[in-house]
Amino acid sequence: MTALSNFDLRQIRLIKKKLLLFESKKIDLFELIKELNAILNALENISESWKSDFQSKINLLELIHDSIEDGSISRWKGNFKDDLDKTASGLKQMVSILLDEYLKMPDSRITEIAIEGDSKWLICPHCNDAWESVSSDAMVICPKCEHVCQNPRSKLKK
Ligand SMILES: [Zn+2]
Repeated sequence: MTALSNFDLRQIRLIKKKLLLFESKKIDLFELIKELNAILNALENISESWKSDFQSKINLLELIHDSIEDGSISRWKGNFKDDLDKTASGLKQMVSILLDEYLKMPDSRITEIAIEGDSKWLICPHCNDAWESVSSDAMVICPKCEHVCQNPRSKLKK
């Protein structure tokens, strides 16, 4: 796995944000599909296989959306609401896994180090927010400002 470019990292976070907005019903399905397609097309260095998996999930959302629009959803095999939720959470999971993989290995461009509060807490050097973390990955993301920094508790540390 290659390091994510800053641009891709921003897009990945944006995908997560859009999915959360959809979950909390702040954007509708049409809006979600439109946004996800645009973000996916903008990604720079993400593997083609990841992108095509992601695209096929968006396509399923699109199919559900179109079936709702033209009324054919009544003939949907199974429960379309379940399929919708499952697909949306599948997309969220793909993004989480991608981010988790990225955080495992040190990225030489990341120079700031999170500050250790106590044995459980880390403090973001960027926004000063503290969060509970038990991660031993090379890097951590501040849940508040989403700044990526080195993890002082990294098991890879020399
Ligand atoms: Zn922060």
